[in-house]
Amino acid sequence: MTAHGAVTPATGHAQRARHAAERFAAVYGAAPTGLWAAPGRVNLIGEHTDYNDGFVMPLALPHTTIAAASARTDGVLRLHSGGVGGGIVELRTDALRPAPGPASEALERSRGGAQRSGGWAAYPAGVVWAMQEAGLSVGGADLHFESTVPTGAGLSSSAALEVATALALNDLHALGQQSQRLAQLAQRAENAFVGVPCGIMDQTAAACCTAGHALFLDTRDLTRRQIPFDLAGEGLRLLVVDTRVQHELGDGAYAERRAGCERGARALGVRALRDVPYAHLPEVLVELAHDPVVQALVRHIVTENHRVEEVVAHLDAGRIRAIGPLLTAGHASLRDDFAISCPELDLAVDAAREAGALGARMTGGGFGGSAIVLVEEADATEVGAAVTEAFAAAGHARPRIFEAVPGAGAHRIE
Ligand code: ADP
Ligand code: MG
Repeated sequence: MTAHGAVTPATGHAQRARHAAERFAAVYGAAPTGLWAAPGRVNLIGEHTDYNDGFVMPLALPHTTIAAASARTDGVLRLHSGGVGGGIVELRTDALRPAPGPASEALERSRGGAQRSGGWAAYPAGVVWAMQEAGLSVGGADLHFESTVPTGAGLSSSAALEVATALALNDLHALGQQSQRLAQLAQRAENAFVGVPCGIMDQTAAACCTAGHALFLDTRDLTRRQIPFDLAGEGLRLLVVDTRVQHELGDGAYAERRAGCERGARALGVRALRDVPYAHLPEVLVELAHDPVVQALVRHIVTENHRVEEVVAHLDAGRIRAIGPLLTAGHASLRDDFAISCPELDLAVDAAREAGALGARMTGGGFGGSAIVLVEEADATEVGAAVTEAFAAAGHARPRIFEAVPGAGAHRIE
């Protein structure tokens, strides 16, 4: 799709890799030892379930963050990104301290930038810190990043950055860690070093997805299964609508929802809301009637886990079209019970459905970011155009629309 505000996803992988290597050489004065890539993701279904020990089902986007990197042995970590100004951030691996403790001066400077969630260098530096905390020896590195993952669009550029870093360091320093372990180290970096209380989904998606599949992940025991998701073979498309808005509410609301879910689990005497069987939902809702806010949060999590299982059953049976209504029901639940949608996301979903989409939902944390739309291939252009027109009519900024083709997880390019 190219018409009506649509953009082509990451193209020219080889060209991008060459560019990243050239930029590395220009910044550090020598060619990199290797190039690694980690993708952004959309979550097909299973939203806000990952901190409730529940189920998620992300798929990797063709958009990636490339890390060009060389090992060092002198305990120096140098970080540079084509996506941000400010030059090289230079740190000592033995001086890394998690936020909000005293960080090194260079990290503080990078934190002082215009980035959300503190300075960008905290993400890769946090990975080094997490590796060292886990007893892995990282002697230092020079890293340069180039990315096509939109940042702050709910497509998980932060996990792509962390996982590209983790995989590069794993190879450069022969750390021998498996992809799921690298995802956990990346999550630890984001939680404890950057200070963002995210679940394990984004990092696992970046590290473990495979092309042509959605990843069914049980966030309690981290068992995962690659589910074939052959959209093109079925004559279907999955569109991503990046609303290009991110409402300020986001961070505080996330913490609030998380705390509310924990309160619900405590009230019900379960370890996590994952342990509330779908069949018991009617009684559980009666039990929580005194606390309507928690009641609604619990209803979302329990029905959402059930929707993931239904989606898996449909995909296992080859019924991709049948997941459309489940996506739409998931959106209604996030909008009405979890209360984390916004006018732009609702409009994207409603306009897409009115134009004939099989199903649509917001994806990611909420309050902006992106929506996904499942649509017949023949209707894709028209549905994309309808969403763009609806945004214009409502006076919203033009959304960025592209196609999600389930891509590969993190890998070494060369
Ligand atoms: P999301 O993960 O949904 O894109 P986050 O707020 O979690 O949004 O992460 C976005 C932040 O990650 C950016 O503000 C920036 O600090 C950092 N980041 C992501 N990709 C890059 C990159 N290629 N170069 C530098 N920083 C990046
Ligand atoms: Mg993120």
